[in-house]
Amino acid sequence: MTLLAEKPQRTSGVESFKNYIGGEWVAASSGESIDNINPADTSDIVGRFPASTAQDAESAVRAAASAFAAWRKTPISARARILNKAADYLDAHADSFAVDMTREMGKPLNLARDEILRSAQTLRFYAVEGQSFAGEVFPQDDAGMIVYTEREPLGVVAVITPWNFPTSIPARKIAPALITGNTVVFKPSSDAPLSGYRLTEALAAAGIPKGVLNFVNGSAGDVGAAITTPQIVRAISFTGSTAAGEHIHRSVGITTRTQMELGGKNPLIVMADADLDQAVELAVKGGFSLTGQACTGTSRVLVMRAVKAAFTEKLLARIKTLKIGSGMTAGNDIGPLATAKQLETVLRYVEIGKREAKWLTGGDRLTGPGYGSGYYVSPAVFTDVTQSMRIAREEIFGPVLALIEVESYEDAIAKANDTEYGLSAAIATRNPSLMHAFARDIEAGTVKINRTTTGNLINAPFGGVKHSSTSTFRESGRAGLEFYTQIKTVYRGI
Ligand code: NAD
Repeated sequence: MTLLAEKPQRTSGVESFKNYIGGEWVAASSGESIDNINPADTSDIVGRFPASTAQDAESAVRAAASAFAAWRKTPISARARILNKAADYLDAHADSFAVDMTREMGKPLNLARDEILRSAQTLRFYAVEGQSFAGEVFPQDDAGMIVYTEREPLGVVAVITPWNFPTSIPARKIAPALITGNTVVFKPSSDAPLSGYRLTEALAAAGIPKGVLNFVNGSAGDVGAAITTPQIVRAISFTGSTAAGEHIHRSVGITTRTQMELGGKNPLIVMADADLDQAVELAVKGGFSLTGQACTGTSRVLVMRAVKAAFTEKLLARIKTLKIGSGMTAGNDIGPLATAKQLETVLRYVEIGKREAKWLTGGDRLTGPGYGSGYYVSPAVFTDVTQSMRIAREEIFGPVLALIEVESYEDAIAKANDTEYGLSAAIATRNPSLMHAFARDIEAGTVKINRTTTGNLINAPFGGVKHSSTSTFRESGRAGLEFYTQIKTVYRGI
């Protein structure tokens, strides 16, 4: 099929990739490209991706608009079949797509592979769940009438995603949009577009009709407004920073629905009765896996005074065992930061932390054998952190933990909630009544008890409160389907 014939061309050893608009693989109208750089080895250019313009984005929106009428009438079983075939394609290419992902954003290969498989599973989940996502029939007095609701697709929807989960976040937005009959304009992060490109490739290979899914790579400044502001774009599902999400949310009209999954400053509370070894694992996995670049990553540890010294000692010992290095090397726990900008941000916050709190370990740029030009930073821990400090308040999005001493459960909850964010929160305790109280008292959309702040199921709702989400619509699970549909109420006389 044309897809394979038009596969990326190799130019001087570096592959060039195209946009996918109206069923065609096309270059950016600017003729320019953006290099996708391997953060573990900055001399490795993973690919050249279109530096799209507003004109390209507008073409994608038009293509999606033209495809909508036919796609919404396409039998749901046919829509589901495409999702299932795309899932098979992802499974079949999981090994090579995982290498692409690790190369473009640094996460360990086993996690990248898991993400590809999870994305396939997400497509399959919505292929099934979407087929039973229906309206209701209402009891009423008139025997000659039936009153029911239908769930209608919205129309053209924009999907805008970050680089940290470059396949699974797009999959959990695109699959529910497609199965409910919407057409999609998808803009990945231009820092890691290859994984989103692979997902598009999978859906194209599965036979998605022209214009139903469009892929446009480009910088936010060049294509952002053209994708988000046209009135014809009826919904925007965005995952990224709070600043960008709030900007988009404010700039759209009332006919456009938004679902914003934004930043976090996620706390882990360690109670005095916690299994301290387990609590240390929660802090290490929550704080440092994915090099601290998960929106649900642990960044604050609120630890009871009685166990603070013992917890800190165990934490520092455990950190010494972590292996930092290329995600391509099996056994490495922590890869590089994903971009030069992330590296600069993390190092800046380490300096801020050193000025305002007590530095315990890490935060160094790692260079030399095994690290080369990669964006490696050792995991950092600060202690005696207080609520007013910037490292306690601002999202760092890197391997930096702030230890905050607390004296009671009430003190811990008050401090945990003293943040503009509310994405995920965890507690380590053996006390069942505290587990229950925590689930009630914490201001977060995702609550973990003796589990890491990171991680969420594809079949359960996901999202935050406060500045972490526009909390009207959740992603994932059945809740993910609601965002992409509107309710129509029908009164039908017989
Ligand atoms: P970012 O906000 O810089 O970019 C995210 C995406 O939005 C990119 O594709 C970017 O090009 C695009 N974008 C930015 N401004 C835009 C605009 N004005 N119009 C249109 N598109 C625009 O975020 P990032 O650096 O890629 O990702 C890190 C951030 O994402 C962190 O803040 C993290 O907490 C957040 N995140 C949240 C979740 C969640 O589910 N809540 C998950 C992962 C990441």
